Amino acid sequence: MEITYISNEGFMLKTENKSVLIDSLHRGEYPPYDLIQPHVLEQMQKAVEPFDKIDLVLFTHHHYDHFDPYTTILHLSNNSKVKLVAPPQIQEILKQHFSEIYDLVEGQIHTSLPKLYAYESMSFGGIELKAYHVPHGEYLVMDEITGDKANKHATVKHLMFLLNLDGKKILHVGDSIPNEDKKSIEPYKEMIDEQIDVAFLSNWFILNPKGKEIIEKYIKPEHIVIMHLESEDKNQISKEVYKKFSSKLTIFEKSMDSIRI
Ligand SMILES: [Zn+2]
Repeated sequence: MEITYISNEGFMLKTENKSVLIDSLHRGEYPPYDLIQPHVLEQMQKAVEPFDKIDLVLFTHHHYDHFDPYTTILHLSNNSKVKLVAPPQIQEILKQHFSEIYDLVEGQIHTSLPKLYAYESMSFGGIELKAYHVPHGEYLVMDEITGDKANKHATVKHLMFLLNLDGKKILHVGDSIPNEDKKSIEPYKEMIDEQIDVAFLSNWFILNPKGKEIIEKYIKPEHIVIMHLESEDKNQISKEVYKKFSSKLTIFEKSMDSIRI
C-alpha cells in the first residue's frame, strides 16, 4: 500500500485496485500546517492524476483544515464513480453552498452518524469500512460574559474510520481524543484483535495519557503515522514519541511525500 501525505490529517491510500482519500479535500493554505501546492489542489478538484481513480472520499468532520466544500463538490462532479462518507454536517454545508448542482452529486454521498461511541459498518466496491461516532477533542474557551469554560467544539459531529483496504487494516482517528467519559474507551476495546497495520494518530492523541494506554493496549498498530502537526513541531514531537512506542513511526515532511508499507 502507498500512503501519500496531503496536508494536516489528509492522506491518500492506494493499493493495486483501490484508492481512498481521508480528510484531504481541503485547501491546505492555513499555516502553521503544511501547504498544499496550487497544482495539487487543482488536480484534486479536477479529479485528474494522481487523484483520477479515487473510489472513496472520507471526512472525519467539517472543520476547514479537513474539508473544503468547493474542492469537494468539484471532485465529486468530476468523478461520478467516487463515493463520499461523512457526518451529516458535511452534506448540509454542500447543500447550502451549492444548491443548484447539489442534486447531481447527491447519489454519491452517504452520511453516517451512529449513536455516540457506536459504529456503522459499510462496504463500497470491496472496501470494508466502520465509521465510529466519537467526539471531537475538547477545546475549552472562556465565555467572556459568564466566565465559564465551554467546549468550543461541542456541536461538531465527528467520525473515526477503521478500513480494510485489500487486507490492510487502517485506523484514522481524526481530531478525536479520549476523554474522561468512561465510554470513550469502548470503540478501541474491540480493536484488540484487529491487527491494525497503520494507525493515523494526532499528536494530541499520542501525548494524552489515556490515548497512550489505548494505543499500547488495544490499537497496537504495526505502524503509526503522526498527523495534525504544525510544521515547526515535527522535530520536537518525534523525539518525544520515539521513546514511547515500539511501533514504526512516520512523520511526513511535506505535502505529496509518500511511503510504501
Ligand atoms: Zn477539528
